[in-house]
Amino acid sequence: MDQGAARRLVAGASRIVGFTGAGISTESGVPDFRSPNGVWARNRIVDFQEFVSSEAGRVEYWRQKVAAWPAMRDAEPNAGHHAFVELHGQGRLEALITQNIDRLHQRSGLPAGAVLELHGATTEAVCLSCGDAIDFDEACRRVEAGETAPRCRPCGGLLKPATVSFGQAMPRDVMTRAEAAAETCDLLLAVGSSLVVEPAASIPRIARRAGACLIIVNRDPTPLDGMADAVLRGEISAVLPGLVHRDG
Ligand code: NAD
Repeated sequence: MDQGAARRLVAGASRIVGFTGAGISTESGVPDFRSPNGVWARNRIVDFQEFVSSEAGRVEYWRQKVAAWPAMRDAEPNAGHHAFVELHGQGRLEALITQNIDRLHQRSGLPAGAVLELHGATTEAVCLSCGDAIDFDEACRRVEAGETAPRCRPCGGLLKPATVSFGQAMPRDVMTRAEAAAETCDLLLAVGSSLVVEPAASIPRIARRAGACLIIVNRDPTPLDGMADAVLRGEISAVLPGLVHRDG
């Protein structure tokens, strides 16, 4: 299907749900996971089990987070993020479900209530024992000052960024709201995701099974391409604004 036909599908939809992954933020300078210059080209995965059971794992995890933080903190939203703001302004964006942890959708102007963050956000570090939270900048400063795997000052528990690691439970209430949005939309627009991380990738499948159209915008193939009504390759900032913009 060409871009014109995909555009007509978007133009005909009135209850749109966006679903985004790390690819929408690469043009803002935040690397994704799986592209050739992505995070995993340089780092190994420290999953939740390793984080809670190994001091060496925690040190490596925090090292990666501190190294990645300046690019994420200083990033600015790009044309891909702004395209979803335009859809929201048209009154057609029911929800924006994101796997991203960079807050760029909110910073682009989407109201917080319209964004469902499946994997949390890099805003603070939270104690896994007592729930006490500190600002993420402060946590990074402590790591850089020599606390290589910082602990909670009030209780001594493990401090972890307020994001969901591999092997860690997703926030159930957010997932429930995301599933409900997917079930009731008439178009799901999946943008910048390899669609391989579960259970997040189940969201586009739920929408498709419930009868919604599915459009995928991504540079590389995804496992869901075969069930999509349209698959558009190319850079998101070049493809997405033209897809959602209404003439006149
Ligand atoms: P992913 O790395 O698995 O996939 C990203 C996809 O985006 C790739 O298939 C790639 O082809 C595509 N892509 C990258 N830049 C693009 C561009 N400019 N135009 C078009 N396509 C582009 O990411 P994912 O599917 O989100 O899943 C991995 C996990 O990564 C998520 O759970 C998320 O929490 C985490 N993550 C988030 C951030 C962030 O918040 N920005 C960054 C890295 C990882």
